[in-house]
Amino acid sequence: MTKDYYKILDIPEFSTTEEIKNAYRKLARKWHPDVAGNSSDVIARFKEINEAYEILSDRIKKADYDKARKFYNYSSYNTQKETKSYNKNTTNPNFKETTPKEEKRNSFWEDIFKTHKGEEIKSPKKGEDIYSDVEISVFEAVNGTTKVINMLQTQICPKCGGRKFVNGTICPSCKGKGEISVYKRFNVKIPAGIKNLSKIRLAEEGEKGKNGGRNGDLYLTIHIRETKNYKTEGLNILKDIQIAPEVAVLGGEITVSTLIGNVSLKISPKTRNGQKIRLAGCGIKQNNKVGDMIVTVEIQIPQDLTEEELDLYRKLRQLKNRGVV
Ligand SMILES: [Zn+2]
Repeated sequence: MTKDYYKILDIPEFSTTEEIKNAYRKLARKWHPDVAGNSSDVIARFKEINEAYEILSDRIKKADYDKARKFYNYSSYNTQKETKSYNKNTTNPNFKETTPKEEKRNSFWEDIFKTHKGEEIKSPKKGEDIYSDVEISVFEAVNGTTKVINMLQTQICPKCGGRKFVNGTICPSCKGKGEISVYKRFNVKIPAGIKNLSKIRLAEEGEKGKNGGRNGDLYLTIHIRETKNYKTEGLNILKDIQIAPEVAVLGGEITVSTLIGNVSLKISPKTRNGQKIRLAGCGIKQNNKVGDMIVTVEIQIPQDLTEEELDLYRKLRQLKNRGVV
């Protein structure tokens, strides 16, 4: 056994299905080439994470893997021996016609999974659903966007057509698996007004079905990236604005940039620090509803006061002191 899938997903051996799923989601999001870049290291890591999840999320495959893992722990020597025989056989044109005894020399893994594959061979089986995440900005959420995403998918090997062998030897392209993992590119249209954590389903774009079964679906969870300037809460957009003390005391008019352009905002006299002002209709639009922008006022003490301005503050202090006395 070459890979420790538990280690790859960074979880203990006795994790629940939910824990496995959560660990996978977290890592898949972090190592997704759209997020982490397209370097070969990232792609290899991402592939490994998906591979680990594919095994550990499938009840039957996981049970086999756990068994094999336990077995490997005390018989790594035998496994190595078997691998050697396997390599010798790859040049044998009659390899396909293996006797049960020879079959035992095949890849440790193939053997382990064969029993179950054999049972499933006749009935159509729906492909696995794939889950992934897409991150968009608040601006994209409000106005809609098209995102290009690359998903790792299993496809029938084009070299051997899924037959696993070419001219009597193991297919060099898929190494005898009959399938290969490739990145498929999608242009995903994200509608205007999408909410955080909404799911977009791409029908039949998941893993391929087996024996004529339908393909799985691809589910994309939308994550609206909260920027320093904006946060979202349902259809509302939250934003902090800074005003000068004299504007807070005397009132005034300021310009606020919203997702639909600049809006003039009237500040009432005696506005308090932390006061919230609602800009109706400046939030996220969805179906027939539209949210508001809620600005929180922050009174900012100017740091670059001129001598003249400081004089005015001193006068103000004198006036106040007289009031107290
Ligand atoms: Zn192949």
